[in-house]
Amino acid sequence: MPMLHEIKVNQRKNISLATLLTGLVSLSVLLNLIILLIASYQSSKKSLIDTTLALNLTNASKMSQTIDSLFKSMRSSLQYSANTFSNISFMNADAIYSKLELIRNSSNYFNSMVWVDETGLIRDMSPGTHSSAGRYITSEAAKTALALQKPYLSKPYAASGSGNLIVFMSEPIYDMDGTYRGYIGGTIYLEESNVLNMIFESNPTDEIGSYFYIVEADGRLLFHRDTNRIGEDISANHVVRKLIRGQSGHEEMVNLQGEAQLAGYVLVPENGWGVVVVSPVGVVYDQLNNHITSVLLNMIIPFSILLLVVIWLARKLAKPFVALADLVSKIGKEKVEVPEMKHHWNREADLLSKSIRYALSDIKKQTDQLTHDATTDPLTGLTNRRTLEAIMHRWIEESISFSIIIMDIDRFKTINDTYGHQAGDKVIQHFAKIITSTVRPGDVCCRFGGEEFIALISHVAIDEAFFVAERIRNRLEKSVNPIGRIITVSQGISHYSSHSVSAEELVHMADQALYKAKQSGRNRTIIAEKKAGIIS
Ligand code: GH3
Ligand code: MG
Ligand code: MG
Repeated sequence: MPMLHEIKVNQRKNISLATLLTGLVSLSVLLNLIILLIASYQSSKKSLIDTTLALNLTNASKMSQTIDSLFKSMRSSLQYSANTFSNISFMNADAIYSKLELIRNSSNYFNSMVWVDETGLIRDMSPGTHSSAGRYITSEAAKTALALQKPYLSKPYAASGSGNLIVFMSEPIYDMDGTYRGYIGGTIYLEESNVLNMIFESNPTDEIGSYFYIVEADGRLLFHRDTNRIGEDISANHVVRKLIRGQSGHEEMVNLQGEAQLAGYVLVPENGWGVVVVSPVGVVYDQLNNHITSVLLNMIIPFSILLLVVIWLARKLAKPFVALADLVSKIGKEKVEVPEMKHHWNREADLLSKSIRYALSDIKKQTDQLTHDATTDPLTGLTNRRTLEAIMHRWIEESISFSIIIMDIDRFKTINDTYGHQAGDKVIQHFAKIITSTVRPGDVCCRFGGEEFIALISHVAIDEAFFVAERIRNRLEKSVNPIGRIITVSQGISHYSSHSVSAEELVHMADQALYKAKQSGRNRTIIAEKKAGIIS
């Protein structure tokens, strides 16, 4: 089971530093863009909504002021007229009619004017056509005005006959003695041409779809762009409810049709009406979407450039680490060359690459040393026995012909005994030098053990090897050596492949020849005897 687990762990895919860094910076740039867009969207939305609400409140407030001043002017015009009627007892009918005509025509306030006496009799009317003069008042508003004997403004009501909405305004007439003499009244037809309607129509809907409507104090529509809705009770509307409670302000709300709107609403103090200016929220969102699209289009190029730059930088930053990781991953698998010393602008990359470079050259030195130690004999510097065997096997595998000369210093024990072990070592080193200086550079010299040596002489016939051996032997005999006494050597020779094709047997045969040389008096070279069946 642990084995299986290990395999699974090894198979897990890991992410390269370059991909990781590139991914991270790309992600952060993209998140940045998204956050910027969201922030821009939120702040634009807030400012658009706030601006629209403020604008609608301002417009509602302006309209309210206009209507308020209009009604104040209507009231003072009516008051003035009522005062001029104080000597009514002395005025003739024509004069009264022309006064009513004058009031009606001098301003465009009222659609009709009426004079009603204290008994409720309609004394005169302007315009004169369809005049009700000579009849008694019938409408509730007219009766209320008479009963009140005070300035009066009616609620809008439907006119008998036409059904048009009417607002009735009246001012009492008192004569010189202070006796109540009826009133002078003006009617305003909300759906016909007059100053009020001129004001309404001069405020058309704007390009973002804003529009306004006017409600009376109990929530009925007095003016709406959809004239069919005039007279409709919309007291259930959220802002109309607030107007009914006497509040003005602005807010986001949902109207009776379920449409979200930004509303500004203001009361008209003079008549208790309410002006509401609304903009559909959907239009604000359309504007917002257009704004965000243009922001996105403006940002896409700089952000793409930013993205490319950061990806480039990330890859540049990752590059030395990737190279070092590749290098380190090769250690132990293949021969690793110490890389060139390069300075890197990133501190960590620079430190790491220097450290790895030093570590690698250290490892190389140690490996070289270990290889050297493992293949050579420390006393003489010659190839050791294990390496010699490996070379022999390789040469045999490659069918390179060679001779083995096995050498053993004669009576070495007595040298040791007479001159000491250290002098013995010096003799061994001395003989090693003679061997290496006698053979050719491609040949192999080995300390086989103690005072025994082997030379592998390549590409030569056995007689040539014999010559080499003899030269070694003669040179040792004649050399000036560390003990100052003649030293001799006995040697045995075998040949690949005329003696054998086995490395072990070749050594054994050469050793036997050496043994013979010792037996037959030492200081000589003997070639191994060929085995029966082997033809040289
Ligand atoms: P022979 O002519 O029969 O070869 O006589 P020999 O004395 O050389 O006999 P043998 O080969 O048996 O003795 C080798 C001696 O070499 C035995 C050992 O004490 C000595 N010897 C082996 N290795 C070393 C070495 O590294 N240094 C020294 N100084 N002596 C060594
Ligand atoms: Mg020996
Ligand atoms: Mg010996």
